[in-house]
Amino acid sequence: MSEDTAVDLLTELLAFDTTSHRSNLALIAFVEDWLNRHGVTSRRVPDASGEKANLYATIGPPDRPGVMLSGHTDTVPVTGQAWTVEPFRVTADGERLYGRGAADMKGFLAAVLAAVPKLVEADLAVPVHIAFSHDEEIGCVGVRTLLADLAEQPVRPAACLIGEPTSMHVATAHKGKLGARLHVRGKACHSGMAPEGVNAIHAAARLTGRIEAMAAGKATRGPFDERFRIPHTTLQVGTIQGGTVLNIVPQDCRLDFEIRNVPEDDPEELLGELMRFAASLEAEMRARHPDAGVHLERLNDYPGLSMADDHALVDFVLALLDDRSLERIGYGTEGGLFQRELDIPALVCGPGSMAQGHQPDEFVTRDQLARCGAFLDRLIDALSGPQARQRLIAAGLCAHDST
Ligand SMILES: [Zn+2]
Repeated sequence: MSEDTAVDLLTELLAFDTTSHRSNLALIAFVEDWLNRHGVTSRRVPDASGEKANLYATIGPPDRPGVMLSGHTDTVPVTGQAWTVEPFRVTADGERLYGRGAADMKGFLAAVLAAVPKLVEADLAVPVHIAFSHDEEIGCVGVRTLLADLAEQPVRPAACLIGEPTSMHVATAHKGKLGARLHVRGKACHSGMAPEGVNAIHAAARLTGRIEAMAAGKATRGPFDERFRIPHTTLQVGTIQGGTVLNIVPQDCRLDFEIRNVPEDDPEELLGELMRFAASLEAEMRARHPDAGVHLERLNDYPGLSMADDHALVDFVLALLDDRSLERIGYGTEGGLFQRELDIPALVCGPGSMAQGHQPDEFVTRDQLARCGAFLDRLIDALSGPQARQRLIAAGLCAHDST
């Protein structure tokens, strides 16, 4: 892969403001055009609004499962961040290439697109699929239409590489997340007659206390998964809003909380436990006023990713990297969805670091782009030629009878 091509492509990609709330179609059109110019057809999988789309392409024999290179096209906002460079234009400063999404994850998209000419030339024994999604940053939302689309296809990818920034190390696991909101409804009255009302903040505080107690229970009793820096499930309340003025018993209170679970834990079970507590609290509140209660609103969720460190795909990918150390990541990816919904083994490996992702003056280094390019070059070589089939069978990427 030409490093200059990857830098040029990154320059183009960064110029599209694809903050999640905006349309990503201009970027998608640019990618389609690039693929077209190399003779690669792709198809859009649009969202309901028609303002956004995922893009999917297959290079190589289309009737066999292949390796999917997966990335998201959207970025987090720059609003409220102290950028010292223009976020939607590349700023090159020595090793560093600055811009919103440089690390998370347009650097990876650029490296993949720069590999297209070599992919097209290669004698691929199994195909490489390109899957670029939208609305990842708001809870892996956009990829779900692509998952539904792939579930209908006669051939699905055999493996997935998610190019989120890991400094080109391999990550085999991340936690799942469930975000939800509790609406607590009390009964307002003058605070001088407080016992005649139902205090929504007091009730929300008891729910908060319960969430904190559940979090403490997870920290002491587990389950534990030492692949994570915090090796157990965590729960926390992130925001709370309630009340109007001091001399009115508050009628409403709203709290947002999240569960970030290790793959060994079931967040639905934890949510069920919390809601059983909420139901008994609600019964208590309703005994004092029939309109009082607690209502759950689910915000979003995505599953954790959990691949065994000795999975054949891990060996296969590590053999293509200079540095074979495994990385722990503290963020979520679409990988858990590919694994859960389509049973596709997934690993995370991409250029740049999440230390820069979501931050002002986000950057990726030229060295990281070059390492990603070298990795993709080796991947293409491993998938090509007469020896490829044996390598792929060993990695579980290709069944004995499928070629
Ligand atoms: Zn990302």
